[in-house]
Amino acid sequence: MQSTWSHFIGGAYTGDTAALHEYDPRSAAVSFAIAAGDAATVDAAVAHAKQALAGWRTTKPLARGRVLVAVAAAIRANAARMSAIERAETGKPLPVSLAEVEVTAQYFEFYGGIAPLVHGESIPLGPDYHSYSIREPFGVVGIILPWNSPLTQAARGIAPALAAGNTVVAKPSEFTSVGLLALAAIAGEAGLPAGVLNVVTGTGEAVGAPLVAHPDVRKVAFTGSLRAGQAIGHIAADRVIPLTLELGGKSPNIVFADADLDKAAAGAMTGFTLNSGQICVAGSRLLVEASVHDALIEKLTARLGAVRFETGDGHGLGPIITRAQYDRVQSMLRAAAEQGACALTAPAPLPDAGWYVAPTILVDVTPSMAVAREEVFGPVMTVMRFDTEAQAIAMANDTNYGLVAGLWTASLDRAHRVAAQIEAGQVFVNEFPSGTVETSFGGFKQSGYGREKGIEALHHYTQSKTVIMRIAKDVP
Ligand code: NAD
Repeated sequence: MQSTWSHFIGGAYTGDTAALHEYDPRSAAVSFAIAAGDAATVDAAVAHAKQALAGWRTTKPLARGRVLVAVAAAIRANAARMSAIERAETGKPLPVSLAEVEVTAQYFEFYGGIAPLVHGESIPLGPDYHSYSIREPFGVVGIILPWNSPLTQAARGIAPALAAGNTVVAKPSEFTSVGLLALAAIAGEAGLPAGVLNVVTGTGEAVGAPLVAHPDVRKVAFTGSLRAGQAIGHIAADRVIPLTLELGGKSPNIVFADADLDKAAAGAMTGFTLNSGQICVAGSRLLVEASVHDALIEKLTARLGAVRFETGDGHGLGPIITRAQYDRVQSMLRAAAEQGACALTAPAPLPDAGWYVAPTILVDVTPSMAVAREEVFGPVMTVMRFDTEAQAIAMANDTNYGLVAGLWTASLDRAHRVAAQIEAGQVFVNEFPSGTVETSFGGFKQSGYGREKGIEALHHYTQSKTVIMRIAKDVP
């Protein structure tokens, strides 16, 4: 596998020599070297994106969509290679990385298919006027990405932005840049014109901030932490450009006594161990009706006992993707223990090398503990009890975040009643999490604003223009 990578600008790998290292979290050994871009690299990438804009935005939407569908096919044809790259930079187990490559293809397929649906409306103003609206692309869009699902999150922003006729400069996480660098070339080979998708690698300060500040970047979509989202928000506010912010979560997963407890236990386990808990939609706060608390904990303890780490056969749990995040998870677990939380930990032996954390369920947690309020981003779930539906809803909403929520119940009435009162952008009922490309996705409160996924995201990558035309009464 190629170990040294440079930026992808104007349809070719170009620019700085490799200066930053990525690590394979399964071994903690260096996996790739990538280029450390700066403001000048951003200038070059934006110039190429601006140059490519006229041709791309005026390409008939059906033809634009056809290119994106071809990109989806090329991603599938390269699935083994893409998965191998993603595994070397994230350590994800094989089925997880293959599933992520498949979802990456689905984003291009979905947005390629609906590209011709970006249309306006006619607005009746009486016989003296003809008025209509159209949806136009912004122009050059900057897309800044995190490290936890590098390919799917890139595709989630890039595919609708391109479908709507924008061109893109993307900045992947400095910990996981290679997958997107490979994807950009694959997209070019599938027919995406040079300059339509550019990838600049480097740190947030050196590349991300200049990208948001660049005068020719007309919209930014950011996925990542609250802290970086706030920093980007300040720059965007000064420039008065629109932002999509997809930030963190501290999502409640509510189990009512009438739920199927086996299914709820399975969903709760997946909710906090998928990708070793490094998903923004992790169901990290389990809220359980008191009468079934002990029964559910018993089922979860049995599931903890069955946890295995990946040992080369591709199956089992993977590691934490960065050393810094591994240290943070460990320090949050220590703080929780000091504050009186009781840890139920998967007994499976940890692999000798790499940054692995045993899935941990924390009981005897109180709502004021940091571990119940802050995002851990590791395989850690807190458990709290409630007695009434109203109490469950209040506890679920007792967070600054509002990304997703889960609820488990046999009652349709309760499902609708509770879903309506939850402050979150997505509510999953009797499943956790639900993963689709077709439904819109985004946060309430400090989980962000704007929406990705679904047809709604297309509208977030366009601005509407209204044309009002006076019709003369005189017949010549
Ligand atoms: P992060 O905020 O540290 O980094 C995200 C990206 O922003 C990286 O590319 C980084 O280089 C860049 N960046 C950092 N500081 C910047 C700055 N000042 N200006 C411009 N760019 C900057 O986030 P992370 O640690 O990579 O990812 C984990 C976080 O992402 C978690 O909080 C998680 O919940 C969140 N996340 C949210 C979603 C969602 O859809 N809501 C999805 C995945 C991850």
